[in-house]
Amino acid sequence: PKLDHIRNFSIIAHIDHGKSTLSDRLIQYCGGLSDREMQQQVLDSMDLERERGITIKAQSVTLHYQADDGNTYQLNFIDTPGHVDFTYEVSRSLAACEGALLVVDAGQGVEAQTVANCYTALEMNLEVLPVLNKIDLPQADPDRVSEEIEDIIGIEAVGAVQCSAKTGLGIKDVLETIVKKIPPPEGEPEAPTQALIIDSWFDSYQGVVSLVRVKHGSIKAKDKIKVMSTGQTYEVDKVGVFSPKATNTGELKTGEVGFVIAGIKEIKGAPVGDTLTLAKNSADKPLPGFKRIKPQVYAGVFPVSSDDYEDFRDALAKLSLNDSSLFYEPENSGALGFGFRIGFLGMLHMEIIQERLEREYDLDLITTAPTVVYEVVKKNGEVVMVDNPSALPAVNDIDEIREPIVEAHILVPQEYLGNVITLCIEKRGTQVNMSYHGRQVAVVYELPMAEVVMDFFDRLKSTSRGYASLDYSFKRFQTSNMQRVDILINGERVDALAIISHIDFAQGRGRELAEKLKELIPRQMFDIAIQAAIGNHVIARTTVKQLRKNVLAKCYGGDVSRKKKLLQKQKEGKKRMKQVGNVEVPQEAFLAILKVG
Ligand code: GDP
Ligand code: MG
Repeated sequence: PKLDHIRNFSIIAHIDHGKSTLSDRLIQYCGGLSDREMQQQVLDSMDLERERGITIKAQSVTLHYQADDGNTYQLNFIDTPGHVDFTYEVSRSLAACEGALLVVDAGQGVEAQTVANCYTALEMNLEVLPVLNKIDLPQADPDRVSEEIEDIIGIEAVGAVQCSAKTGLGIKDVLETIVKKIPPPEGEPEAPTQALIIDSWFDSYQGVVSLVRVKHGSIKAKDKIKVMSTGQTYEVDKVGVFSPKATNTGELKTGEVGFVIAGIKEIKGAPVGDTLTLAKNSADKPLPGFKRIKPQVYAGVFPVSSDDYEDFRDALAKLSLNDSSLFYEPENSGALGFGFRIGFLGMLHMEIIQERLEREYDLDLITTAPTVVYEVVKKNGEVVMVDNPSALPAVNDIDEIREPIVEAHILVPQEYLGNVITLCIEKRGTQVNMSYHGRQVAVVYELPMAEVVMDFFDRLKSTSRGYASLDYSFKRFQTSNMQRVDILINGERVDALAIISHIDFAQGRGRELAEKLKELIPRQMFDIAIQAAIGNHVIARTTVKQLRKNVLAKCYGGDVSRKKKLLQKQKEGKKRMKQVGNVEVPQEAFLAILKVG
């Protein structure tokens, strides 16, 4: 199609406001799939996404829409994740677009990620179209929500399109608005080719598959392309679009979004943010890529069986192609052996990565407690970044420890404001700002990142009956009184169980941790002493009593099938056990800190 008849847009929203459902309706309306192929949330193609009902990876779709003006438009749109951990995924998708649909649940109103994602789109100079969704719900109040959008975000929203992605009401209005309001892409069809790699993944048959936005020129099958960062050239096997099934089109023209497969077998062969050009008549400069993103939370991840180490390393390399926010380096733990220290954008990201590694690469892994990164100034003047409690320098060598502080934006209905403030104070927060917007209050707090990444979000939700929403980002490092709390099992310090805590919480957390571990470590043939210590000072002690003979007898009595079941359970349980000295420690024990207030 001509540039005039192309529209590229992303769908952005707070989680659960209906992005994926709206995507389904757009596909259905434009006939991208037959009724038989149309199943719920077609774009959430990972099993993990379906089970959790969330979008993790952005997905692109190309549709054709016959508009009221008589023209047929090519719509390239990208459904994006809503969770704060995946903001990076959102901003990359936006780089491929001229516009964004800001979906807002007309019952819930504006929430924290509605604001954050909208600002990201505005900063990138995108045309933002508010769409009030879920108007079929009895509690939907589109007028109030329009005002809220204007009041809190400051974009025009009176007269915004209204729809129900569930019933299909208003979908045509959405499509007409897209065609009328979102500008067509700009670009030079005759200029040297420049295509931005928005996403890449590794396919075991075809090699690297890259999702690109062609800014200038075009890419055809059989073209010789060049990856600008490496200078390597490849012959294009296939180009095409997702409609939403992968469909070869033979060519991607200026302004279009689609995939390129060029037999690239090196995992890092075509990294996200890179530019593709043609080997002949190359562009002289790459397009501006993406900001490198820094992980916020680090954890040690170890294969349960050390035989899996090589497979684990290979899996990480492949996964990091698809998830460029993933950072990792080898780690050697006294307790857990060889593994990797992995950096994540947040706790959800950490869970997702662990699950993807286990499912997509069939690995059994043990993850240690996550920790933020501390800036440590040593007495000798040296400054080191510490992302692992066991790597904290000796107390006598430390001049000061600086912890990461985030700026947290919280939106909460007035009636829960008191609870939210109490929570923020408990978590060592400092109020920065507060403003009233109708029934909602926007509160800004500076909070230690360590407190936010742990249980803050769950606490916020429960203290506000689910109504408060949160967005946060790193602000700065601040000197703070932090201490390492060690855990000893039968007198041996277990590096993988150490934590760094603020001095005010260190005693309490150490004690609670020792208690939790007592519950989590199964009884064995001997007593297990668990101690929490700060330096050489033991602050708590618990004991897992040895298993008595008659308990064993009871277990193994009874009928055969029950016995088999028990053995099976034990076997499964074993998978997630790690031998620490002569004690078997289950996965949950390494994450016990997450259960400690
Ligand atoms: P996302 O997180 O923004 O992708 O949201 P989803 O598309 O996964 O939708 C979240 C939930 O809202 C799902 O249970 C949907 O069925 C529901 N939902 C989405 N759109 C509508 C709508 O227009 N009306 C109603 N009643 N429910 C909707
Ligand atoms: Mg979704």
